[in-house]
Amino acid sequence: MIQLQHVCKTYGEGENAHHALRNVNLTINDGDVFGIIGASGAGKSTLVRCLNLLERPTEGAILYDGRDITGLSGRALLELRSQVGMIFQNFSLFQQRTVLRNVTFPLELRSEKGEAARKRAMELLELVGLADLAERYPSQLSGGQQQRVAIARALANNPKVMLCDEATSALDTRTTASILQLLQDINRELGVTLVVITHSLPVACKICNRVAVIDHGRIVEEGATAAVFGNP
Ligand code: ADP
Ligand code: ADP
Repeated sequence: MIQLQHVCKTYGEGENAHHALRNVNLTINDGDVFGIIGASGAGKSTLVRCLNLLERPTEGAILYDGRDITGLSGRALLELRSQVGMIFQNFSLFQQRTVLRNVTFPLELRSEKGEAARKRAMELLELVGLADLAERYPSQLSGGQQQRVAIARALANNPKVMLCDEATSALDTRTTASILQLLQDINRELGVTLVVITHSLPVACKICNRVAVIDHGRIVEEGATAAVFGNP
């Protein structure tokens, strides 16, 4: 379970202060596909970056399974980050590494090398349907295939949680549907909790069981997806 308690994030100070998050309170339960939906500039990325401490809240606390992680640093911070997978709109793959070596990268960081790492990475590539493209480079893949590699890489450390920041925003409708299906399978079959940041109502309605709507840094609505957006 992830809890945000009175989380505020202010960029700059004095006259230049910009309140990106204002007193955000949220609970994300294990197994949720939790949508954070809002317009551009609403604070979605700031919120998701606070969840793996790429940003520090200015005020408030973030708890994982009841443990306050807001002040973590050093080894404990790296450990937390390894347990929280993340995927992005632009895929953020290493262009100089093959598909396989993108997926082994997080394993190498944990000193898992050689055959064991290769085997684990191939299992993950199998899972995302790309085992036959293991020796290609990212530039030789379609956008949907690149996002599948990013998903395999994000799963390498067996995270309990995966943060998806506009993960389908750069993809066409059909590719979006197939990536959302894959994310849904990962949630249901591997039990990974998903936090899905999106500006797209159809994306939120397709896979999220709960959603929070954020506007100017404030959560303005929160609840079961059908209750917040109504049944189609
Ligand atoms: P600080 O901890 O010094 O207050 P912040 O986290 O507020 O730093 O800001 C991080 C950096 O991003 C700062 O150097 C700031 O100048 C810069 N920055 C300012 N405005 C923006 C913006 N709109 N988008 C991205 N970065 C910005
Ligand atoms: P979203 O992901 O919903 O588009 P963001 O979280 O990126 O929104 O940004 C929320 C607000 O915070 C925006 O007004 C943005 O300009 C501002 N902002 C984001 N990062 C920084 C930064 N590093 N420094 C200053 N302002 C920032």
